[in-house]
Amino acid sequence: MGRFDGKVCVVTGGARGIGAAIAYRLGVEGCKVAILDIDREAGEYRVNEFRSKGIDAIYIYADVSNEEHVKNAMDLVYQKFKAINVLVNNAGIGSSGKSLEEQTFDEWRRVIDVNLTGAWLCAKYAVKYMKIGKGVIVNIASTRAFQSEPNTEPYSASKGGLIALTHSLAISLAKYGIRVIAISPGWVDTSEWQVPPRKSQLTPLDHSWHPAGRVGKPEDIAALVAFLASDEASWITGVNIVIDGGVSVKMVYLDENIIEEGLSALFQDREVGKMFREVIEKLKSYRSVEDVRNKLRELLDKL
Ligand code: NAD
Repeated sequence: MGRFDGKVCVVTGGARGIGAAIAYRLGVEGCKVAILDIDREAGEYRVNEFRSKGIDAIYIYADVSNEEHVKNAMDLVYQKFKAINVLVNNAGIGSSGKSLEEQTFDEWRRVIDVNLTGAWLCAKYAVKYMKIGKGVIVNIASTRAFQSEPNTEPYSASKGGLIALTHSLAISLAKYGIRVIAISPGWVDTSEWQVPPRKSQLTPLDHSWHPAGRVGKPEDIAALVAFLASDEASWITGVNIVIDGGVSVKMVYLDENIIEEGLSALFQDREVGKMFREVIEKLKSYRSVEDVRNKLRELLDKL
């Protein structure tokens, strides 16, 4: 018996990446799976893969930012499977990373349309079917809703909006027994869930600065979605759950300890970190930058 036997889920952006892992996990636990995605090739590949593993799955071409696509897709899922119990709003795109002055209005609109409006549209057109039975909506946000690098305004704003949309929907839909939850992942390496799968490019340093000791995997997010969508989580609604290997609660100072740790991990050699530490200690014995400069000149002259 699977936790989702007889249930139906819709996973947007389920053809590749985190969405594919979520769709797979729900499918393995008994759910019938509908993948909505704009990547036809990956969508068809994924559905064939799922079917070969005994999962009842369909792929529907749908751009989540297009109202007609979303409405038709939800109707199609209901016609095919006679229910929609779980909606995972996972489809999302990044922003260009250009400076604020270089960001275009078109870029802003596209990111907000896909990441935020898409989730609203999917909820709007799925709810007609979800309210027939109890249901769960899981919105995949991001820790970037709370923390930023420079030049990520469209993406960060879209994810912040998604968290606000989550509690708003949770309160509106509570009367139908529908729970709505946001998940904010940190850094997740999706290489193995791409089409075709890619080799991970992560370095030891990428892993080691996570308090949990590693970068996230799509399976980590999928396991949390499966729990939240299950009856075991029936007292959880309206909230955002961060899943990031501890990164967002780590106090970060760029001190010698972090650099020593980082260099050791990068070179996979403790000695490199120690050598750096010795150089730093030595440099500290000089009184000014000028002193250091002179000492370095002296050393260079000797070479
Ligand atoms: P991905 O690019 O690997 O997969 C995204 C999927 O969404 C693709 O299959 C793509 O075709 C589909 N998609 C894109 N635009 C669409 C649209 N308009 N309509 C329908 N489908 C569309 O991305 P991912 O890394 O797996 O990210 C999945 C979600 O998780 C996104 O919402 C992303 O913002 C979020 N997230 C990712 C990370 C990470 O580190 N990977 C971290 C935090 C949050």
